[in-house]
Amino acid sequence: MAQPTYLIVGASLAGAKAAEALRSGGFDGRIVLLGQESEAPYERPPLSKGYLMGKQDRETIFVHPPQWYTDNAIDLRLGTMATTISPGDKTVTVSTGETVGYDRLLLATGASPRRLPVPGADLDGVLYLRSVQDSERIKDTFQNASRVAFVGGGWIGLEVAAAAREAGVAVSVLEAGELPLGRVLGPQIARVFADLHREHGVDLRLSAQVSEIVAGAGGKAAGVRLADGQVVEADAVVVGIGAVPNTALAADAGLKVDNGVVVDAALRTSHPEIYAAGDVANAFHPLLGKHIRVEHWANALHQPAVAARSMLGERAFYERVPYFFTDQYDLGMEYAGYAEPGSYDDVVVRGDVTGRKFLAFWLADGRVLAGMNVNIWDVNDSIQHLVRSGSTVERAELADPDVPLDQFTPAG
Ligand SMILES: Cc1cc2nc3c(=O)[nH]c(=O)nc-3n(C[C@H](O)[C@H](O)[C@H](O)COP(=O)(O)OP(=O)(O)OC[C@H]3O[C@@H](n4cnc5c(N)ncnc54)[C@H](O)[C@@H]3O)c2cc1C
Repeated sequence: MAQPTYLIVGASLAGAKAAEALRSGGFDGRIVLLGQESEAPYERPPLSKGYLMGKQDRETIFVHPPQWYTDNAIDLRLGTMATTISPGDKTVTVSTGETVGYDRLLLATGASPRRLPVPGADLDGVLYLRSVQDSERIKDTFQNASRVAFVGGGWIGLEVAAAAREAGVAVSVLEAGELPLGRVLGPQIARVFADLHREHGVDLRLSAQVSEIVAGAGGKAAGVRLADGQVVEADAVVVGIGAVPNTALAADAGLKVDNGVVVDAALRTSHPEIYAAGDVANAFHPLLGKHIRVEHWANALHQPAVAARSMLGERAFYERVPYFFTDQYDLGMEYAGYAEPGSYDDVVVRGDVTGRKFLAFWLADGRVLAGMNVNIWDVNDSIQHLVRSGSTVERAELADPDVPLDQFTPAG
C-alpha cells in the first residue's frame, strides 16, 4: 500500500514544528513541507530585536539546522507557493504547476503585514517587517538614515523603534491611539511603554492620523503628513499597523474563514482532512470558551503538536494559556492570559512601576484574566497557573510582593 502523505503548507515556525511533531509522534509516511519563502523555516522574534540590532547571527534564527530536514525525511520545498486546494480530490496545486496529493493537510500560512491605505504608501523607503529580508533592509536603512518615522506604536513598531534608537537614529513614532499599546494594556500600563520610549529620546506623537507619505527627491519617501497638515520629516518610514491572516487559499477552497481559518480545539477546520495552526488559525479555546486567533510565537510553537496528534487520529486539544514576550531597551516583559478591552474591571499592580520592575494583573470579578511580569523573572508559570485556575483573589494580597502567587491557587 502507498504510504500516506501529510502535506504542510507554510514553512515557518508552525509548519516546521508540525513536521517535527508528526515524526516524534511516530508518523513514518511522507511529509511534504511547502514554503513560499526561499529560506528554511526561521523564527521571527529576533527580526525586530537581536538580529536587527546585529547582536544575533543569522544561523541562530533557524528553527532546525539544515540537515534536520534530510535526517527526518522531510520533503522541504522552498520558494514554492500552494495556489489552490481541491478538498474533493485531496490535492494541492503549487506555483510550479505540479499537483501534490495528501491524506491530511495542515495550513500554517501565517499572516502578512497590514498595508497602509494612504497616498504614497508604495513609495520607495516605506518599509514593513515580516521576513528576514525585511529585517536586513531595515538594518541597512539604520546605517544610512538620520531620522526614521514609525507608523503604528504596536509591539513590532516599538521594538524596531528601540532598535533604531540603539543604532543612533532619530525616531518619531506616530500612533493613532491615545497611547501606544493602549488597546491591549489599558492606560496605566501602556503609559509605562510611552514613558520608556520618550526617555530614550523617541518623538512619540499620539492621536496621530497619517494622511499621506510625502515624496522627496527621486520619488523616495521623505516624511509623513498627518491629518492636521503637519509633516514629520524622515529618511524612511517603517509601517507596523498589525497583520492579516493569510486565508485566501482556505477561503477559495470553501473552508470556513472568519478572522483566520476557523478550527475547533483539536485544530480541525470545517473540512475533515484539513487542519490549521499558528497565526492563521482562529481556534476554539476551551478555557476561554470562544474562538481566538493568536499572533504570537508561543502559539505557533505549541499548537502544531496538537495539530499533529489530531492528524494522527489521537484525541488532543489546544488549551494553553496565551503567552507572549517583548524586549525593548532594558525592559523585558512576559504576558500570559487574555484580557480584551472591556473584559476586565480592575488592574492590580505589584512592585515598582516607575522603576519598571513590577507585575500587573487584569481582573474581572476578582479573577485574574491576564498577568504580566516586567523585568521580574521566573514568575510567568505562576501567573499562567493563576489565570488557568480561575481562582478569586484578594486585591490587597495580589498587590503585596510578600504574598507568594502560588498562594492564590489550589494546591495540586
Ligand atoms: C518581526 C516580528 C517579531 C515578532 N516578535 C515576537 C515576539 O517578540 N514575541 C511573540 O510572542 N511573537 C512575536 N512575533 C510573532 C511570531 O513570530 C508569529 O506568531 C509566528 O511567526 C507565527 O508563525 P506561523 O508559522 O504561524 O506563521 P508565519 O511566521 O507567518 O509563517 C507562515 C509561512 O507560510 C508561508 N506561506 C503563506 N502562504 C503560503 C502558501 N500559499 N504556500 C506556501 N507558503 C505559504 C509564508 O511565506 C510564511 O513563510 C513576531 C513577529 C514578527 C513578524
